[in-house]
Amino acid sequence: MGGVTARLDQLPLRDDLRGKTPYGAPQAPLPVALNVNENTHPVPQEVADDILDSVARALRDVNRYPDREFTTLREGFADYLGHGLTADQIWAANGSNEVLQHILQAFAGPGRTAFGFAPTYSMYPLLTSGTGARWVAGTRAHDYTLDPDSAAAQVAEARPDVVFLCSPNNPTGTPLTLETIEAVYDATDGIVIVDEAYQEFAPRDERSALTLLPDRERLVVSRTMSKAFAFAGARVGYLAADPALIDALRLVRLPYHLSSLTQAAATAALRHAPTMLRMVDDIVEQRDRISATLDALGYEPLDSWANFVLFGGVADPAATWQALYERGVLIRDVGIPHHLRVSAGTEDETTAFLDALASIESAA
Ligand code: PMP
Repeated sequence: MGGVTARLDQLPLRDDLRGKTPYGAPQAPLPVALNVNENTHPVPQEVADDILDSVARALRDVNRYPDREFTTLREGFADYLGHGLTADQIWAANGSNEVLQHILQAFAGPGRTAFGFAPTYSMYPLLTSGTGARWVAGTRAHDYTLDPDSAAAQVAEARPDVVFLCSPNNPTGTPLTLETIEAVYDATDGIVIVDEAYQEFAPRDERSALTLLPDRERLVVSRTMSKAFAFAGARVGYLAADPALIDALRLVRLPYHLSSLTQAAATAALRHAPTMLRMVDDIVEQRDRISATLDALGYEPLDSWANFVLFGGVADPAATWQALYERGVLIRDVGIPHHLRVSAGTEDETTAFLDALASIESAA
């Protein structure tokens, strides 16, 4: 490339992007990687074989553009979600990050604001500023819960165009009640996104925000195949909402944004949903083992309905993170003082993390 590299500050970058830092969770090849809330179990072999057949068939037509409306995949998601949903209420994209970006492109943008309750998923502010909109952060209680009155009052005051409600919340794992979602919806004229990326790890008898969709045309419930479905590398996220809201997303998506190979792989994976999801119970068990063991070690794990645990009581998070790294275990420093976050892995990975942490503890 001629050996010339322009420095970022010499480029005519948009003013509102100057000084910003890209998303940057470390991708280190460590034996035990529990830092980005993946499902660390591989796709079951019988499903992988069927996905491969479907992708091979799609490859024969790859000279043609894919179905722009990804109709078969949308039908698959509607079936999977249930609640009487139909394909015209479903949207999908390359990861729920792109799904969220589509919503912001349609409903945020220059001169508008998006709002979320900090600490929450770090991509919300980045996606917001990417569309030229302003991010406004609200607050939570000390234990990171969000009660309906406080949430509604904060949203009413901020008057945002888009509200993010992460349920359960990343990075804290905190559940969110349907009462809070309803109160926030009633407190705004904007779009309300309930991000249920980790919903499959919540207790089975808990109601999803999908049950609130009827008669709420500004409500969006987003999901992903990256977590429970063990499909993070395939990049498939989706949402359910009113058909009119889906029409708005068609205005901003790139034509043919979901490749035919992605559509084929995701459709095949959905045909095997129960098999794909069979490790969820095991992951939940490992999550609860992490919490119990952290507690016994003197740390302060937060209640989690997701596949990860945020724990407090860490004297020096950077030092503990580094000590674990040196023992081959990668977890996440999310920047909350005295806290670290760890994803629940397989039983062996979870044991490796807990043993490594205990060894640091005893070495201290
Ligand atoms: N929402 C939340 C709350 C997340 O934690 C993540 C991933 N860490 C995403 C959305 C995006 O996931 P993906 O783009 O892989 O679907």
